Amino acid sequence: MTIQALGYATHTPQSDLVPYHFERRDPRPDDVTIEILYCGVCHSDLHTARNDWGGTLYPVVPGHEIIGKVTAVGSAVTRFAPGDTVGVGCLVDSCRNCEPCEHGHEQYCKSFVGTYSSVDPQDGRVTQGGYSDRIVVSDRFVLNIPKGLDLKGAAPLLCAGITTYSPLRHWDVKPGSKVAVAGLGGLGHMGIKLAKAMGAEVTLLTRSPGKEADARRLGADHVVLSGDAAQMAAVEDKFALIIDTVPYVHDLNPYIPTLAVDGTLVLVGFLGPLEDALVTVPLVLRRKAVAGSLIGGLPETQEMLDYCAEHGITADVEMITMANINNAYARMLKSDVKYRFVIDMASLKA
Ligand SMILES: [Zn+2]
Ligand SMILES: [Zn+2]
Repeated sequence: MTIQALGYATHTPQSDLVPYHFERRDPRPDDVTIEILYCGVCHSDLHTARNDWGGTLYPVVPGHEIIGKVTAVGSAVTRFAPGDTVGVGCLVDSCRNCEPCEHGHEQYCKSFVGTYSSVDPQDGRVTQGGYSDRIVVSDRFVLNIPKGLDLKGAAPLLCAGITTYSPLRHWDVKPGSKVAVAGLGGLGHMGIKLAKAMGAEVTLLTRSPGKEADARRLGADHVVLSGDAAQMAAVEDKFALIIDTVPYVHDLNPYIPTLAVDGTLVLVGFLGPLEDALVTVPLVLRRKAVAGSLIGGLPETQEMLDYCAEHGITADVEMITMANINNAYARMLKSDVKYRFVIDMASLKA
């Protein structure tokens, strides 16, 4: 018996998202069936809907910041029970046997299965995401949402939150660490909140004046206009870590002098080419690094959710109805959101 689902899908790169009836798989013994309450709206959703990266499998139901309630569990599921509040992020399966999988770094498995527009190797079905009323996910890829977290604001933690939490942990940010966050969007605002909670001295690097008050409210200690040479010179050799969330083609060279010896700039927001070309001299002379980082594995994502519950951290969200998604995409392209849209899935049934 398959599960009938209703969602919003797009059928071509040019078309709007529209209501779409489809089937979820017949639950397996290790599956958790979830009624979706809220789903965050990520830039990756829009890029996939428009086939910006190529390879989108249409029709596609986007959405990988999913919060819901368990309605049923398979016979092999021990960690969850009906009624539990749970989350699903960007991954719904992986090979489970490779070196990254064995270390709980499923995001670096070469066979990971994305929450939407991926082929599930077990049954050949195309995965469909969280802009829908229900989803069926293997228990290993389901997260416990700790009590006390606001569920609407928790949805974006499953992509924007973990994407910034993981590099802060990997590069060992601790009290007094000097951290910069480049770009103040969905990722950037989480980066500031999380770095501040870890005790870092946090600087926002931004191209846009007028973000200072908001950045300080979110926890930034300093705001530097990255296009202002004098302001950038004033932070030369300062940062142990820069989290670069800028989601479009940009030039990294102005940031590199602001790294301290052994400092790292980590890219989390953009998968395309960089322009201008990276000048290697300052990297070599002062052992600086440019790195990348992708979301987090399941154990680290759970750790992040627990950390956010303990520290009262959620995303700043604007709630929308499902029918408003196309307008939300148009606004997201203009960066007109503070700082994440979240769909109230009750509006899908209404
Ligand atoms: Zn995302
Ligand atoms: Zn694997």
